[in-house]
This record gives sequence, C-alpha cells and structure tokens, in this order.
Amino acid sequence: MDDDVHKEDQKPSKSDEYDGWGFDLFPERRGSFKPSLKNILFKGRGKENIERIKCEGKVAYCLNKSPLVRIMLGALRKSGCEISPSRHIACEYCDQSVHGGYDPIMNQIVICQNTATSKGTIQGVLSHELIHMFDNCTRKLDFRNIEHLACTEIRAANLTHCGLISSMLEGHSSPFNFKKKHQDCVKHKAVVSVLAVRNVTFEQATQAVDKVFDRCYADLEPIGRRIKGKLVDYDLAYAEAFLMGYDI
Ligand SMILES: [Zn+2]
Repeated sequence: MDDDVHKEDQKPSKSDEYDGWGFDLFPERRGSFKPSLKNILFKGRGKENIERIKCEGKVAYCLNKSPLVRIMLGALRKSGCEISPSRHIACEYCDQSVHGGYDPIMNQIVICQNTATSKGTIQGVLSHELIHMFDNCTRKLDFRNIEHLACTEIRAANLTHCGLISSMLEGHSSPFNFKKKHQDCVKHKAVVSVLAVRNVTFEQATQAVDKVFDRCYADLEPIGRRIKGKLVDYDLAYAEAFLMGYDI
C-alpha cells in the first residue's frame, strides 16, 4: 500500500530533475491534473476543493492529536528540520493505487485526498512519510539509490507499522515468536514499498532490502531515542510502548 513519489518514470519528457520519480502517481505534482467533463460526470470528480478542505482538517487533527506524529515533528525540530504544515504537507488528488508519498525534491509530504479519507489512514501515511522526511533531512538520502530507498522503507515499516498487537490480532504472531515475525513483517512491507515506487523486479527489491536490513532495522532513531527536553512523559511512555511493539 505504499506509496512514495519516487517511482521510475518511463517518459523522459519532463525536466531532468523529475525523472526517475513516481510523478505519474501524483498528477497534481506536475500540473497535469484537470478534471475532465467525463470524470466529473461519471467518476464523481470535480469535488477536489471540498475533498481538499476535508483532508486538510484531518491532517490538522493528526498533527495535534497523534502522539507518533508529534514525536516525529519534535524530532524534526530538534534536528534543525522543522516543518510548517502549509509548506511541507499537501493534500492532493492521486492515482487510486496510493494513499500518500514523500516528494524529496520539494521536501513535501503528499496526502492523497481521494484515497486517504480516514483519520487513521492519514495518521499512518503522515507517520510513515515523516520518517522519510527525517531521513532525507538528517542523512542526505539519494532516493534514486535503491539501497538508500530500501533503508528508509525498512525504517518507516519498523518504526510506524508491524506492531505486536496488530500482528497478534491478524493471527500470525505471539509474544514468543514476535521478534522473528516482526522482522518478517518489516522486510515484507519494505519490499512492497520499494516495488510500489520503483520499476524493479521482486528479486531486485528483496536483494536491496536484504543487503541493508540488519543495519537499518537496528537504527531506531528518532523514536527509539529519548528526545530530551521538549516531550512530555506521555510521549516518552508512548515511544517506549511503541518500541515494545505495542500499537496504541
Ligand atoms: Zn515509504
């Protein structure tokens, strides 16, 4: 289900800067989206402004209320990468196959207003993409390098998905086999994410994830590190619980 703005693009007709990224999934990114009369009549399009306002309201809610999103915002601030929601987060109309993405060229998170319509989904997209934003700011990632991409996808899956409770509810984990199952979950999600945004084979994606897995899986910054100063106990408790693999 993942969804970043860095898919290989076959057509070299755009500016070089944008080649190699998944802008075909995000038509508004290059200004090619125009709701046609056919889309308005038959697909219910033409309501993009209303969708956008609703989306922006839910994004604002998550920025205020989601502990995980707030931890990430605090970590970005602490690392000198403070974001301003109106500049760095955009609600847009996207391809049906994605919920959101991170645009490393614009340093902007895209929330897909037509597919990410619940607060829960938006919170998930925001947390995931904020990890990519953090990595891009603090580690100077090259998203065209498949190993860099694999690493940040491993970290996003490790830090924001694959919780113990959810995997137990799904019936394929217990506290006794959690560690192995958790690693499998992260690996699987990272491979799916790489495949979603790059035109590579399953084997190539798996190979890239395997190559960097141990190092990137062990890297829990910034959530596994106590961010001193700004965060209240509740947030720290949340971060600790999260590290234990509990979904809150
Ligand atoms: Zn991702």
